[in-house]
Amino acid sequence: MTLAKPLQLTQTNYHSSEANREYFSVSQFKDFMECESKALAKINEEFEESYGNALLVGSYTHAAFESDEAFRTINEENSDVIFKKRGGGKYADFELADLMIETIKNDKFAMFAMEGEKEIILTAELFGVPWKCKIDSINHSRNTFTDLKTTRSLKQRFWSDKYQKYVSFVEAWDYVLQMAMYREIIHQNTGAYYSPYIVAVTKEDPPDKAVLHFDDSRFQFELDFVEHMMDRYIELKAGKTAPSRCEKCAYCRKTKQLKDTVEIGELV
Ligand SMILES: [Zn+2]
Repeated sequence: MTLAKPLQLTQTNYHSSEANREYFSVSQFKDFMECESKALAKINEEFEESYGNALLVGSYTHAAFESDEAFRTINEENSDVIFKKRGGGKYADFELADLMIETIKNDKFAMFAMEGEKEIILTAELFGVPWKCKIDSINHSRNTFTDLKTTRSLKQRFWSDKYQKYVSFVEAWDYVLQMAMYREIIHQNTGAYYSPYIVAVTKEDPPDKAVLHFDDSRFQFELDFVEHMMDRYIELKAGKTAPSRCEKCAYCRKTKQLKDTVEIGELV
């Protein structure tokens, strides 16, 4: 028996369907948590999530910290989406992104937190399956890594079913889970546990900002949480069990077939 050689990930194929089939990632895990049917439909290329401009705005913001060349390239390749016709400047999403980029670039401490090698792809085997991740910034001389996050506001509270309490945007978007998983993947590659940081910048005008660190005690809960879900997600991805439907997400709405009436009390 010959084992298939694992797919070598590059900046070009990192987000490809081949890579998403072969590797788990934190975003795929989050897809499964949100809706198993949607997650599988995305893996099988039967459904594409509509993010509007959000993905490009995210890449644009990240490129600004990667290198001048990366930022120039993304501006050139997407000039019709970024720039208004007839020299009217940039569209509002990108004007705001520029404001957020400037906010971070003008803060020495935030820039210090971002120092390191950018957009680093790593893989590892966790819970019996291969995982991939792409780290915004990793610093091997001080054993740290940093992720850049944009958010509506730093102080907003969200109800979390997972934590059974009100939490910040960091927990609400499962960024602690992301950092815990990246920390394990880095550990497998380097033999050391690196400390994660989030450089957060808000979409307010003027933007607020913070460099966030994590108490180490937070990570084991997240790893246990992932491990608890993985048996099912591995079976789902292998097609060995049928996915449930959340009946809320865009995929479920799109594929919904009515069979019965709904008593109004069931709506909320
Ligand atoms: Zn759904």
